[in-house]
Amino acid sequence: MGMSAGAHLAKRGVDTLLIDAFDPPHQEGSHHGDTRLIRHAYHGGPAYINMAICAHQLWNELEEETGETLLVQSGVLNMSSPAVYSYKARLEESRGLGLPVEYLDADEIRKRWPGVVVPEDYMALYEPQAGYLFSERCISAYRRSAAEAGAELLANTRVERLEANPGGVSVYTSKGIFHAGQVILSAGAWFQTLEPFLSLKMKPVRKVVGWFQPSNTQFDAGRFPGFTLNTPEGGFYGFPSLDGSGLKIGRHDGGLPWNPGEPIAPFGSCEEDEGDLRRALDTYMPGASGALNRGTVCKYELTPDEDFIIDRHPVHSNVLIAGGFSGHGFKFASVVGEILSDLATRGAASLDIGLFSISRFK
Ligand SMILES: Cc1cc2nc3c(=O)[nH]c(=O)nc-3n(C[C@H](O)[C@H](O)[C@H](O)COP(=O)(O)OP(=O)(O)OC[C@H]3O[C@@H](n4cnc5c(N)ncnc54)[C@H](O)[C@@H]3O)c2cc1C
Repeated sequence: MGMSAGAHLAKRGVDTLLIDAFDPPHQEGSHHGDTRLIRHAYHGGPAYINMAICAHQLWNELEEETGETLLVQSGVLNMSSPAVYSYKARLEESRGLGLPVEYLDADEIRKRWPGVVVPEDYMALYEPQAGYLFSERCISAYRRSAAEAGAELLANTRVERLEANPGGVSVYTSKGIFHAGQVILSAGAWFQTLEPFLSLKMKPVRKVVGWFQPSNTQFDAGRFPGFTLNTPEGGFYGFPSLDGSGLKIGRHDGGLPWNPGEPIAPFGSCEEDEGDLRRALDTYMPGASGALNRGTVCKYELTPDEDFIIDRHPVHSNVLIAGGFSGHGFKFASVVGEILSDLATRGAASLDIGLFSISRFK
């Protein structure tokens, strides 16, 4: 979010300094592990759908600017047990906003993607224009774009505390003090380290993903889409096998609490790390449940309603906040950067961000 905001601001001619505790992209935040889904037919309503459409366009523009492939339009297959979720409302809302979404029953799912084994009463919402982003590549692309537009990046520099008054903001870091007219805070799962200057209602959790070797080519990129899978046992998401990487799968719900700064247990520390993912594959995509090729640990920062926080600081209006992306924010990073840049330079965003106010938690 920060790198995108930095690129958007610098392109508008704003004197921009980016500060990161690590050297992005890196493994300490919420963005590593190769890929992130970009879906458009969101359950959160028109505000999310419009943002997703706009985000997709901005990713395409970044691709044109940098000459890099960042987004693969693989299609995304959203599947659910009727006991967990029905796609009826989302389907109507998405079609109303011009998205070419399809409603599929279990037979049709199995016919189009023979690797998927779903019970008779399952259904799907298929988004042919959705897909996945190469997350680290996206960050590197924004990093280059920001630098070319004149932004400066201080990597491996930790923000330790902040002070703000109507005249400006002082940022105390491990490499000195910086003063700015306005500051954007986008600390991902690390926001607690900025307390007491800012206290947000959000819970950082440890999340894992694994890459499993399929026994056949049905799950290969080009043939298999990105997917989400809502089952009575949990909510899962995943990606096709890219150049032999294996099918990547993660679980959206659950996760162990993590305190920022504490060491995080590596993949495989708990039985559930591999077990939850393999059990889902055994049941719903048995042909993809081969050897575990790789596993990694990442972080979510969950707000109580899992909606984002994009707003001004409750006391200091010259401090903008973008956080609480609750495990589904990456796809929006392009448009969130533009929104933050609008807020900083024009005082208002052109998209509806009312849903993301801090005051909703009072
Ligand atoms: C396993 C997993 C799967 C996901 N899947 C998807 C998906 O399919 N689709 C999707 O849209 N989203 C997905 N997400 C969510 C998405 O990746 C996050 O919402 C997004 O990366 C959040 O971006 P961010 O900029 O807020 O956080 P980050 O990318 O973590 O960036 C925060 C940055 O702030 C820096 N920082 C923190 N504290 C300080 C400090 N005190 N001083 C200086 N720098 C600091 C960090 O070093 C970091 O670089 C997933 C997340 C995970 C973990």
